[in-house]
Amino acid sequence: KNIVLLGSGAREHAMAWKLTQDGATVHVLPGNAGIPGSHPDISALDFPAIKAFCEAHDARLVVVGPEAPLAAGVTDYFAGSDIRVFGPGRAGATLESSKVWSKNFMRRHGVATAQSWQFRSDKLAEARAKVAELDGQVVVKFDGLAAGKGVYVCSSVEEAHAALDDLEQQHSGWFSFLLEEKLSGPEISIIGITDGNAIRLLSPSQDHKQLLAHDQGPNTGGMGAYCPVPFADDNILAAIRTDIIDPTLEGIRAEPFDFKGFLYFGVMLTPQGPKLLEYNARLGDPEAEVLLPALESSFLELLEATLDGTLAQTTVRQRPGYFVGLVLASGGYPAAGFPTGFPISGLDQLPADVQAFHGATRRTDSGELATSGGRVLVLTAHGPELPIAVERAYAAAEMVNFQDKYVRSDIGQRPEPTLIF
Ligand code: ATP
Repeated sequence: KNIVLLGSGAREHAMAWKLTQDGATVHVLPGNAGIPGSHPDISALDFPAIKAFCEAHDARLVVVGPEAPLAAGVTDYFAGSDIRVFGPGRAGATLESSKVWSKNFMRRHGVATAQSWQFRSDKLAEARAKVAELDGQVVVKFDGLAAGKGVYVCSSVEEAHAALDDLEQQHSGWFSFLLEEKLSGPEISIIGITDGNAIRLLSPSQDHKQLLAHDQGPNTGGMGAYCPVPFADDNILAAIRTDIIDPTLEGIRAEPFDFKGFLYFGVMLTPQGPKLLEYNARLGDPEAEVLLPALESSFLELLEATLDGTLAQTTVRQRPGYFVGLVLASGGYPAAGFPTGFPISGLDQLPADVQAFHGATRRTDSGELATSGGRVLVLTAHGPELPIAVERAYAAAEMVNFQDKYVRSDIGQRPEPTLIF
């Protein structure tokens, strides 16, 4: 069974690894130096080239890793052909790509979420008045894909005004944004696979977006993740189901767009119950690097059932224990201009039960493996208890080296929250 997988990061390495375990032959476009079956000459956004590749390699299933090909309409491009795409069309992907649109969707369908107010860039004065009314306890969200840089969590009127100034400077011309009530509580990622009718949930997980320990410093693409989340008990998961997931599915059934793919719910557990912060239309990275090793069921069967519309007849089994994924990053990331090209050593020393997923690696002219970007590798370890998995992951991270390697020191070690609602 030939599958084409689009993307080039450690998430796609984890997806390719799991699909290969399930018996598929996986071609990754463009992939990277560490992912077997990569084709660096084909971009994940070059749809005619992807189509020609599928035809030449007898591939009838395209699986999409990142957001960009979905937002660019890869699923719509192949609609009506005999090549099926796992991932929503452009309309469904708007749940992620427009914060205003997705907020309105949540509201239409009664999904629990923060109160919010929508503004256009010609109404900044009104927005400033609203900020004052809320005493600066707001979150400013740019309406569009901003690579994680469009959200400003503010604690004072001055901070919120600075956020609005920043938005104005970054975006010339017309734009929209939201002011949101600032919520508090622990966050949890719930990622499901849906065929637009049923949904099957992967293990609850948490990522660690900020660069430094104790959630300090700038936001990154993610410095590590773990699953499952010990405090996410059945009561909490049931509340998330009732208040967020079920109304979302009813919404998708009711609206004119199809949605077959990953649906990610970024949830905050507030004293007033779970609230949805955002949807993503794809598997998270680095969540994928723990969720797929944790998945005992065949990923390939879940993808096929999704496209067949028979997901309701499947069950999802998870492996027991805990999974911790650490990002090995280049020093200087996420600021621009950090050096890369450093040789990577020690991967061959890793114990057999630690997985190394390549994010930003390349081969030098002499065939050596070297760093080529910010998030270089993700190492995933497993253990019967979370602290044991954490310890194994950090021991593995010590074994792999490159110049200026940076690993955040507290992945999987957040203090247990005193719950919750
Ligand atoms: P991602 O990179 O996860 O796709 P994003 O940039 O699209 O994120 P959100 O997930 O909406 O944006 O917000 C990013 C972070 O900001 C959240 O993980 C959360 O910590 C914080 N946040 C968002 N909305 C709120 C809110 N209403 N109250 C408090 N914090 C919030």
